[in-house]
Amino acid sequence: MSERKQPVLGVLGGGQLARMLALAAAPLGVKTLVVDSAADACAGQVAPLVVANWTDYAALEKFAAQVDVVTFDFENVPAETARWLAERVAVFPAPHALAVAQDRLDEKTLFRECGLPTPDFMTVDTREQLDQALAAVGAPAILKTRRLGYDGKGQFRLHEVADADAAWAALGAQASAHGLILEAFVPFERELSVIAVRGRDGEFRTWPLTRNWHVDGVLSMSLAPAPDIDVLQGRATELARILAERLGYVGVFALELFVKDGQLLGNEMAPRVHNSGHWTIEGACTSQFENHVRAVLGMPLGDTSARGQSAMLNWIGELPDPVGVLGAADAHWHDYGKQSRPGRKVGHATVCAAEPAVLADRLDTLAVTLARQAQVRPTIDALS
Ligand code: AMP
Repeated sequence: MSERKQPVLGVLGGGQLARMLALAAAPLGVKTLVVDSAADACAGQVAPLVVANWTDYAALEKFAAQVDVVTFDFENVPAETARWLAERVAVFPAPHALAVAQDRLDEKTLFRECGLPTPDFMTVDTREQLDQALAAVGAPAILKTRRLGYDGKGQFRLHEVADADAAWAALGAQASAHGLILEAFVPFERELSVIAVRGRDGEFRTWPLTRNWHVDGVLSMSLAPAPDIDVLQGRATELARILAERLGYVGVFALELFVKDGQLLGNEMAPRVHNSGHWTIEGACTSQFENHVRAVLGMPLGDTSARGQSAMLNWIGELPDPVGVLGAADAHWHDYGKQSRPGRKVGHATVCAAEPAVLADRLDTLAVTLARQAQVRPTIDALS
């Protein structure tokens, strides 16, 4: 008998997404090798870790020789590193798709070309252009760095035109390196995301739409399938498919959307598994992590149907006492194995139920146990 060769998934970035990818890869018989510049990167607790930075080409050469495919836990890996690796090993999503999602201007331009409207915006490279953009877009507005922003980082909210000086003081220094964009503030009715996956052969699937609540630009809770979405599921799926095909995308991605006057507006695209898809681990037939592994390795994709109704609560900064979650019905605890730090995503919990009313009851009980009533209330209201 010939020796069995197990596929090896290479992941750039060793955070919780890489950790959950490795955990999903294992039952498929797939090994994982992670690269991160931090020796204590949390994925290193569940998979071998190469400690190297994105320009350590000697380490990356050895890494490329050990893996069958390379993917990302972190979208801000320099596009140059991704391209260099793609000359040596299969890289999914492809570097050009990663590059589009790294730049808010390219991303919004692509959305519009694909028929997805976006909030009004203008690029800003100088203090004078900020005034011009404010005159065109109006206030309130949000000034954002075009590149390297995530989880509300690299953003400044302008409540009125007079906030321009403060906004420039906060982000002006980044204008020359990364460019800025001024976006109209959208008084949206809801925030939704569609998590989608496209295989190497072009097979395309989406999970049911997720409704999201953010606090200070960081995801706080998700509810899936999003209730009362009518025709939006079909429209979001169609838009995600058009985007994926335009980019020749392979793997999982998230399309973040605002709903305003019942219409979808494109906010951003994450070229990777996404926090608003964590509920799929327990709440869907196949998780976003498993389908990403399947997609990038060219395996058939799994069923993306929801098993019932699920809600995901993010733990930011520090973990609550796990006992309240571990003892609750159909509740699932995820500790990422990270040190506590303000603003850091350190874990999450997902609560599932067959029926929305049962999920609302379970969330109500859990919110009291964990003293999280304020965080959980909007989700319970959305379920009733
Ligand atoms: P982003 O990093 O661009 O996804 O922004 C993080 C969060 O900030 C979003 O999920 C929204 O809750 C909020 N946000 C960002 N841009 C806008 C906008 N133009 N109008 C209203 N809220 C926004």
